[in-house]
Amino acid sequence: MSKSKIAVLVIEDEAPIRRFLKMTLTSQGYDFSEAVSGQEGMLKVASEKPDIVILDLGLPDMDGLEVTKQLREWTPIPIIVLSARGQEKDKVEALDAGADDYLTKPFGVAELMARARVALRRTMTNSNGETLSTFKFGDVEVDFLKRQVTKKGEELHLTPIEYKLLSTLIKYVGRVVTHNHLLREAWGAEYSGETHYLRVYMAQLRRKLEKNPAQPKYLITEPGVGYRLKVD
Ligand code: CA
Repeated sequence: MSKSKIAVLVIEDEAPIRRFLKMTLTSQGYDFSEAVSGQEGMLKVASEKPDIVILDLGLPDMDGLEVTKQLREWTPIPIIVLSARGQEKDKVEALDAGADDYLTKPFGVAELMARARVALRRTMTNSNGETLSTFKFGDVEVDFLKRQVTKKGEELHLTPIEYKLLSTLIKYVGRVVTHNHLLREAWGAEYSGETHYLRVYMAQLRRKLEKNPAQPKYLITEPGVGYRLKVD
């Protein structure tokens, strides 16, 4: 592919998963590097300066959550965590600690590549220093300067909370945003845990924004974790 390949560091103790990732990522034109423990992984992030990290949450020497926290003390590098089924709490904690996204094992190539592209796009947009003044998805357009939302050109009335939820999801477009993160943004830190508020307001938003609110195309539920604004 291009001369400047995107470098991926995989931190994972399970050899079959490392092999799968190596095969997949190199065939897609990425530079691949690997570490089998949290310590080795953190050293390689510092020495090799990869563009993105894929991090297993269950490592032999230390928790992937701890690795995420330590990396976030000094680097904004995109981090996608790998979790086993039933580790919902762990992946939510990792997201709240600054991980970009997660994949639940077993995962497919298409899913992996989509997550990696979104996570990489985030740092690339940020580093260009772009600020969006409008954002479009489907028939909906959000104008951040006017704080105005339109659908097929007609103005929609959103409550301040609905607007805050939508603008937060847009800020992290394509990425999962945890319940706590959304509650903190829209209501304040003391509301973390009140996920039923979110359910009510997300249902309202879907009724206003989605063609078929019962089968949302854009405002996607990530069970047990949060919500994601999905756009093509
Ligand atoms: Ca493991």
